[in-house]
Amino acid sequence: MTTQIRVTAWGENVHERENPIVAEIYPDGMHNTIAHAISEDGDCEVRTATLHDPEHGLTGDVLENTDVLVWWGHAAHGKVADEVVERVLARVWQGMGFIALHSSHYSKPFMRLMGTSCSISWREAGEKERLWVCNPAHPIARGIDRYFEIENVEMYGEPFAVPTPDEIVFISWFEGGEVFRSGCTWKRGNGKIFYFRPGHEAYPIYYNKDVRRVLRNAVRWATSDGVKWIDSCPRIDVEDAPEEITMKGPSIHKKGEAGLR
Ligand code: ZN
Repeated sequence: MTTQIRVTAWGENVHERENPIVAEIYPDGMHNTIAHAISEDGDCEVRTATLHDPEHGLTGDVLENTDVLVWWGHAAHGKVADEVVERVLARVWQGMGFIALHSSHYSKPFMRLMGTSCSISWREAGEKERLWVCNPAHPIARGIDRYFEIENVEMYGEPFAVPTPDEIVFISWFEGGEVFRSGCTWKRGNGKIFYFRPGHEAYPIYYNKDVRRVLRNAVRWATSDGVKWIDSCPRIDVEDAPEEITMKGPSIHKKGEAGLR
């Protein structure tokens, strides 16, 4: 029996409760539709969490037992508590995978992980998007042909103000002419990060079979091998150096004192 990948699908669940168009497309909330897509192959144990849960559903215990955190946010990025964001970052550095969807390019955890403005250009015209596979051998592109299309989307265009990705898996072309790096990977600490563009709340994008396949591929790719890198900033005393050294000073730290962070 293989071990299940423990996934937490986080959604802010604001538009679904406040906008009738979105509520009709996602009556159970986008987070549940995303969770169902990820569960489809039976190799993931998926729980959901939303902004409205205590601690946004991301307690230390939940994060400790999450291999991959999938994040969808748009209207309420600023309402996510900084304390929870710090907790998410610490887990990514340890090795938890993080998948940021669509408008989550402006979510607090993604922006902190990138360290840049993460801005884009955009247009809401219900136009067609063609997502080209630029790296057919990448595990996230498995099962996708040369490209796939989504009939009605909100356009995101370059420049996408993120650090140069480690890998670009998809590039989108839009009916209006713009292009965008739609599927990008980075590593921060021990954690793998994937940004995936599709997912505007006013269109039924998380029911698209290719989008759902990419979500499953991405979760498998982002899961850690179980190794946790705990960044504890250890102090190594002179006598514990691997080679013999003599103290030449000066030293402002007293012996036995914890490291200054
Ligand atoms: Zn959108």
